[in-house]
Amino acid sequence: MSKVPELFGSMVFNDAVMKERLPKDVYRSLRRTIREGTALAPEVADVVASAMKDWAVAKGVTHFTHWFQPMTGITAEKHDSFISPCEDGGVIMEFSGKELIKGEPDASSFPSGGLRATFEARGYTAWDPTSYAFIKDDTLCIPTAFCSYHGEILDKKTPLLRSMDAVSREAIRVLKLFGKDVCRVTATVGPEQEYFLIDKKDYAKRPDLILTGRTLFGASSPKGQELEDHYFGSIRPRVKAYMADLDEELWKLGIYSKTEHNEVAPCQHEMAPIFTTANLATDQNQLTMEVMKKVADRHGFVCLLHEKPFEGVNGSGKHNNWALSTDTGENLLDPGRTPADNAQFLLFLTAVIKAVDEYQDLLRISVASAGNDHRLGANEAPPAIVSVYVGDELEEVVDTLVSGTAHDGEKRRAMDIGVTALPPIPLDNSDRNRTSPFAFTGNKFEFRMPGSSFNIACTNIMLNAAVAQALGKFADELEGAEDFDKALSVLVRRELAAHRRILFNGNGYSDEWVAEAKRRGLLDLRTTPEALAHFDDPKNVELFTSLGIYTLEELHSRQEIGQEEYSKVIQIEAKTSMDLLKKRIIPACIAYSKSLAEGVAAKKSIGVDADVEASMVKLITDKTASLLSRTCTLAAAVEGVPSGAAKAASYCAETVFPAMQHARELADELEMLVGREYWPFPTYGDLLFYV
Ligand code: ADP
Ligand code: MG
Repeated sequence: MSKVPELFGSMVFNDAVMKERLPKDVYRSLRRTIREGTALAPEVADVVASAMKDWAVAKGVTHFTHWFQPMTGITAEKHDSFISPCEDGGVIMEFSGKELIKGEPDASSFPSGGLRATFEARGYTAWDPTSYAFIKDDTLCIPTAFCSYHGEILDKKTPLLRSMDAVSREAIRVLKLFGKDVCRVTATVGPEQEYFLIDKKDYAKRPDLILTGRTLFGASSPKGQELEDHYFGSIRPRVKAYMADLDEELWKLGIYSKTEHNEVAPCQHEMAPIFTTANLATDQNQLTMEVMKKVADRHGFVCLLHEKPFEGVNGSGKHNNWALSTDTGENLLDPGRTPADNAQFLLFLTAVIKAVDEYQDLLRISVASAGNDHRLGANEAPPAIVSVYVGDELEEVVDTLVSGTAHDGEKRRAMDIGVTALPPIPLDNSDRNRTSPFAFTGNKFEFRMPGSSFNIACTNIMLNAAVAQALGKFADELEGAEDFDKALSVLVRRELAAHRRILFNGNGYSDEWVAEAKRRGLLDLRTTPEALAHFDDPKNVELFTSLGIYTLEELHSRQEIGQEEYSKVIQIEAKTSMDLLKKRIIPACIAYSKSLAEGVAAKKSIGVDADVEASMVKLITDKTASLLSRTCTLAAAVEGVPSGAAKAASYCAETVFPAMQHARELADELEMLVGREYWPFPTYGDLLFYV
């Protein structure tokens, strides 16, 4: 490998390249745009575009694309070449400011949730200068936002940027009250990415993996993850080579891939990058997923990003580490050492606690999908109930504040959070609760519910919006206060008391917690359709419209897209299941029992007893008959999907999915009865324990 510092970011038009290639005044005005979100003058855009093109062409690039994140959850691109005809019949390589700033892809086939009829195909992409352009597959990729002809947003990027602005605005107001003058507060994110690597040859023989991303059938392998010998285990050479290659590709793209290790399940791994701004982290995570898949192919692997590729072993998630930091370099979720810093920290902590409690439903919605429903609430991932873990020390601080007294050695004394009166907050960062969906980990929160294949924009939109609103309300109250210390104390105490119920330090996987959460009035939204139904609750509409993140129409479109996607995924899985049952599994059962039956006849003809085979034939025949009947039930369920996005989604969750599971159970039993050479695809053992 060439030297990492030289390699790092070599495919990114980053700050260093801008500084080197742009005239000073252009560089300065671009920086201002990036920092303050001001519009870029057309002449400046022309100069930037030309410098970008020269830089890219020198690296062998011939095409450019506006790279955007439509509602499909993946990224989209449409390539144009730089060539422009000249009079002598030849071409020159050209790229104008106009082409940089705005694109018009034919957007009719992207989901819009009813926002844009297909005949109004036009959509716009607009350059997001806060995320660096980069080179991928010999193409200059320009990160962009995507909206309709009428200005409605059609992507995940625009609302994320809006939510970042909102949280910055409100946090600045709060900081002013503490005598701090900052220009910008940025939501920072470090997404840890889990994935599976399986052998390409096995993958090719599993139509369920190919069509749906997960195994729809498969009896448990005799060995799974029970020995816990894979987690942080030594990485086998073939995987190690993959990880090295992956790091190199990610580094070239300026992605700080930092930690790679084996995860709990066999052939499950994780990559954690160093955190960055929420929008860059989102772009980079989208790129990471793409690169993971591409690099896997070169190593004879397939990278599975589905949340639950295999039943019986852990699924994959993505931990969204989130914090707020100022342009002066202060992490607002860092407790700090002085009482004044601690008062500020407590106010931000209170805002997050309030935000999570009031918008539990939105956080749950942001991680809702057919794939992730397998994880949440299973005994491996956080439950579907949202709660916050702050650790014992901090919880004690909260309790003390709420009750107004502290137990300090022998004597009880009043505890106040006036700027001058708060004792230092003791914090033991090593205390980790792995079962909490939303855990404070010393100077950031780790949201563990997102699924491995998710675009993290949505989660961060919800978080930023909810926290922005809480901070805004705090600022409203405190700005008018005569005695700041006193008002602060009253506010923090009142809010913590009101939202105390969301704090939970115990085992989130236990049944007792489900009952306890119910007593506390916390939401337990078990399926995607249940969660999505809350998207347009009046309080959520108010949140998004008042902060200018979504209009009512945009919000409804997102709700509908989520519901449609859910029922489509379940129906594709159901149809794939039926196909495999009818064309492969049931025929395999019949073929095997037939051969057994022939053996029975042959043995009997020479006077040998064949009772074992005969009972096997009977057993397999009976089970196959039941399987056929369950397949018919599944077919009928699929036939009955009602129209209307919300209705179809609920029906798929309540009727189609259970019918599919019911058939699978029996098919998996039959797998254990049918001879190995008759079974139509590689088993879990083959898939999970390759060499
Ligand atoms: P873990 O034990 O969960 O792996 P780490 O300390 O390794 O914890 O951090 C996990 C992730 O959190 C990394 O991606 C890291 O960059 C990110 N992270 C650390 N500090 C912040 C922060 N202030 N804001 C956002 N993410 C952060
Ligand atoms: Mg973590």
